[in-house]
Amino acid sequence: MSLYENTQKLIVRAADTMDLMPEVRVVMNEPERILTVDFHIHRDNGKIEMFRGFRVQHNTLRGPAKGGIRFHPQVDMGEVKALAGWMSIKCAVADIPYGGGKGGIEVDSAKLSGCELEQLTREFTRAIAPIIGPRRDVPAPDVRTNGQIMDWIADEYHKIHPKEDDYLAVVTGKTLENGGSLGRDSATAAGGVHVLEAFLETKKEQLKGMRVAIQGFGNAGHHAARILQEKGAKIIAVTDSKGGIFAEDGFDPIKAHNCKLKKGGVGECLLESEGSGKDQKEISNDDILALECDILVLAALENQVTIENAENIRAKIVVELANGPTTPEAHEILEKRMITVLPDVLANAGGVTVSYYEWEQNLRHEKWTEEQVAEKLEKSQKKAFEDVAKIAEEFKTDFRNASYVLALRRIEHAFLEKHSAAAHGFSCSNPI
Ligand code: GLU
Repeated sequence: MSLYENTQKLIVRAADTMDLMPEVRVVMNEPERILTVDFHIHRDNGKIEMFRGFRVQHNTLRGPAKGGIRFHPQVDMGEVKALAGWMSIKCAVADIPYGGGKGGIEVDSAKLSGCELEQLTREFTRAIAPIIGPRRDVPAPDVRTNGQIMDWIADEYHKIHPKEDDYLAVVTGKTLENGGSLGRDSATAAGGVHVLEAFLETKKEQLKGMRVAIQGFGNAGHHAARILQEKGAKIIAVTDSKGGIFAEDGFDPIKAHNCKLKKGGVGECLLESEGSGKDQKEISNDDILALECDILVLAALENQVTIENAENIRAKIVVELANGPTTPEAHEILEKRMITVLPDVLANAGGVTVSYYEWEQNLRHEKWTEEQVAEKLEKSQKKAFEDVAKIAEEFKTDFRNASYVLALRRIEHAFLEKHSAAAHGFSCSNPI
């Protein structure tokens, strides 16, 4: 099953649960706009190389399309469509005034020089410029893109639209020097921890002392490790695509991350973080999934927990910081096994929520303090969890389906407002 079919399956399941109106089912079934671009850059060796990129606007009923841009060899249109659909749901769950979008370039960006990466970003920006804009479609970072890349997008967009005063708001996740927001970098992880804490509160449980394994040690994964450790949880394993560390007694993820930055992979950091935990062993990105622990954080890529390995999961709670890390079939297995899943569209919504704060600061020409951002984010994520939990109770369903029901209700509401019958009837300008 393709990734986009997974998205559709989840939407249909929720639509059936809540009896969504047929028109909105149709609207949600396919993206509003899809753009494929082919462009080239000049490599440092003098050769010209072609690249293919995509931008998808899934739905804009609730506001401008919003969503990241990823640079990854596996990027294709199906993936970008799926990710854009999840953004429509996520923005509605977080109740921020956006629709869903996503973009990407099929590229192994690690193989490009800094100058080539800048060229790639600027050329891609020119190619998608006709459909993006501060009130139209607002990209952001995603897998293997960062603040510097967002700065290049803003700058290139400004070159194309020199009279656009609000050009900084065309993209979020920028560096602090260039209109970025404090707290954006750690927002995905912080938001996930807020949801986790809100859930634990309902069970009268605490994070302190809980054993945590984290698959994926990029932006979301390493901030999650740090925050969870600060709150008293024990990090017993972290992995990235090349390997990882497991220590029964836990270890210091900050040391592990500093080492990863130097060596390129956390799997090479076994000795480096010694002293902060005994008996460290190597562990792979696959094996970490089967570790016995309280909390498994999925912060890598999509399709990690599948029908093949869902039976092996031994965590009590799964927190999805990546997008789509659990397939719908695997999710059903986890639910049957009474493993609580805090789903991506809720748990990782902190990233796009602080993107929204950045966008607002840019449009209002304001700068909010780190405390202001953190406080707003916590309130927003906890409210999202409460809203989802209420629907889970109302329909006696799991948090993933409840998140979709909540989102579809809000999107349906926007649809009805937009089309409030006679008021917006179409009148022909030139009847024949
Ligand atoms: N790429 C992130 C996500 O998947 C953030 C999107 C954004 O900030 O617009 O949620």
